[in-house]
Amino acid sequence: MRNEEVSSYESSNDYDQRELQNVHPPDWKNPEPIDKYHLVVIGAGPAGLLTALNAAKVGAKVALIERDRFGGACFNVGCIPSKTIIRTSRLYAEMRDAENFGAQVPTGISVDFAAVMERMRRVRARISRRVSAQRLSSAGVDVYFGEARFAGPDAIEVEGKRLRFKRVLVASGARPKLPSIPGIAAAGYLTNENVFDLAQCPRRLLVLGGGPLGCELAQAFSRLGSQVSIAQDDPMFLGNEERDAAQILSDAMARDGIGIHLNTETINVRMEGNQKMVDLASDDYKFSLSVDEILVGIGSAPNVEGMNLEAAGVDYDKEAGILTNDYLQTSNPQIYAAGDVCSEKKFPHIETAAADLVVHNALFWGREKLSVLAIPWCTYTDPEIAHVGLYVKEAREKGIPVKTFTVMMHEVDRAITDGEDEGFVKIHVREGTDKILGATVAASHAGEMISEISMAMSAGIGLAALARVNHPYPTQSQAIKIAATAYQATISSPIRKWLRKQWLSH
Ligand SMILES: Cc1cc2nc3c(=O)[nH]c(=O)nc-3n(C[C@H](O)[C@H](O)[C@H](O)COP(=O)(O)OP(=O)(O)OC[C@H]3O[C@@H](n4cnc5c(N)ncnc54)[C@H](O)[C@@H]3O)c2cc1C
Repeated sequence: MRNEEVSSYESSNDYDQRELQNVHPPDWKNPEPIDKYHLVVIGAGPAGLLTALNAAKVGAKVALIERDRFGGACFNVGCIPSKTIIRTSRLYAEMRDAENFGAQVPTGISVDFAAVMERMRRVRARISRRVSAQRLSSAGVDVYFGEARFAGPDAIEVEGKRLRFKRVLVASGARPKLPSIPGIAAAGYLTNENVFDLAQCPRRLLVLGGGPLGCELAQAFSRLGSQVSIAQDDPMFLGNEERDAAQILSDAMARDGIGIHLNTETINVRMEGNQKMVDLASDDYKFSLSVDEILVGIGSAPNVEGMNLEAAGVDYDKEAGILTNDYLQTSNPQIYAAGDVCSEKKFPHIETAAADLVVHNALFWGREKLSVLAIPWCTYTDPEIAHVGLYVKEAREKGIPVKTFTVMMHEVDRAITDGEDEGFVKIHVREGTDKILGATVAASHAGEMISEISMAMSAGIGLAALARVNHPYPTQSQAIKIAATAYQATISSPIRKWLRKQWLSH
């Protein structure tokens, strides 16, 4: 029996109860505050949890305040539930394509949506132990449940208790940005905060927004049997990514049968009986879609309200969040901010990096900068799109000359044997050197592959050294070695030219 499996008497409700016991125990009693904390952390999402844990490990007196559930958006309504249902949806897609792999599966496989969601709850309940309030408390952190609010530049109030501090980390995260489309509020819509509570798979689903959230969930729901359309006002998905990576994703989603509407604005939503009629416009072409549910993934808004940040002298912007310098310090030098409440790129591993940085900078007078870190990210569609470092456009804007080494996945043996030969690895170096500036990987396992390049960048390892790294054969990450070898060929060519000249002259 695999760990993930459990005895059959446990139901979705049992998993939810088990999870709640970890992430917000109903009978939790807040402790009595000590005289003064070295560090008070607001928000127990990835950024806050890790910072509190790391600070406690080095002996600091730490308080952690959470108003809702430990684990924050990532654990409860983000990375974990989405990746879990994506896994099942991929399995259904593979069954659909089984014949291409020479395998036979019974025809007419039907999706058991309730079972998909029950597995998601089971997985979430299992992982909840790692992000539990009890775990933090056992590690020496004073855990408070309640709404945190500054009561001046050196104190925070929570549930009638006053916590005095030397340093604070605000890691209050973000919430889904709400759409201002006429009629949508009355018609009702889903966000990541309630989509994982669905009891039935929507027959027809319109996803608004073609960022990572929109693309991942559009593909997953399509593979779970929804008739999905996706509308995005930009001309391509994943606005920040390289154009050819976004195109590969667009093609893959179209192959899944998703209705793609790029350059399309949502004008209005109205109800017709039980159906939601959505009016859309692409330039002069106007059309309507009739759907059962609308999922909105148009970005997020930082949680800056209600904390009385003004009383602590912390500057913020309602859209951009808390303003920090490169050391993650706010306008009040005793107060730091990290994660989605201030970060432009919203990923929990940025929060992991930020947690280390805050502990060094806030508690040990460190001067570590966020901008020097190589932080990769990935969109977990099929194929995955991963990136680290600079994009070519960014490098050009900074006046850095770039040379790119590209390997198509159809040149990689393992990608061919696995039937996953779509996509590419692109590594950008500073022209005339082997210094890696950045990379994009569009491939089935891009999220795993990008780590090698990220590691090389963090360790200052150039492309020439990567060419000497042996990879097991056959693996998809050999694409990186092939790209690095292509770089080697460019530097050795003058030597080759010279040798050729010598041979020809004899
Ligand atoms: C559907 C979806 C999928 C995602 N998938 C991925 C992925 O695969 N990989 C990835 O890297 N990222 C992913 N993300 C992004 C990731 O979830 C966020 O970047 C991450 O959760 C941010 O962590 P955080 O600690 O900054 O904030 P949060 O996780 O939002 O946590 C903030 C916490 O602060 C608490 N809080 C707020 N205000 C107060 C207050 N006044 N007092 C007390 N507590 C307060 C909140 O209740 C919350 O628990 C995904 C996001 C979504 C929505």
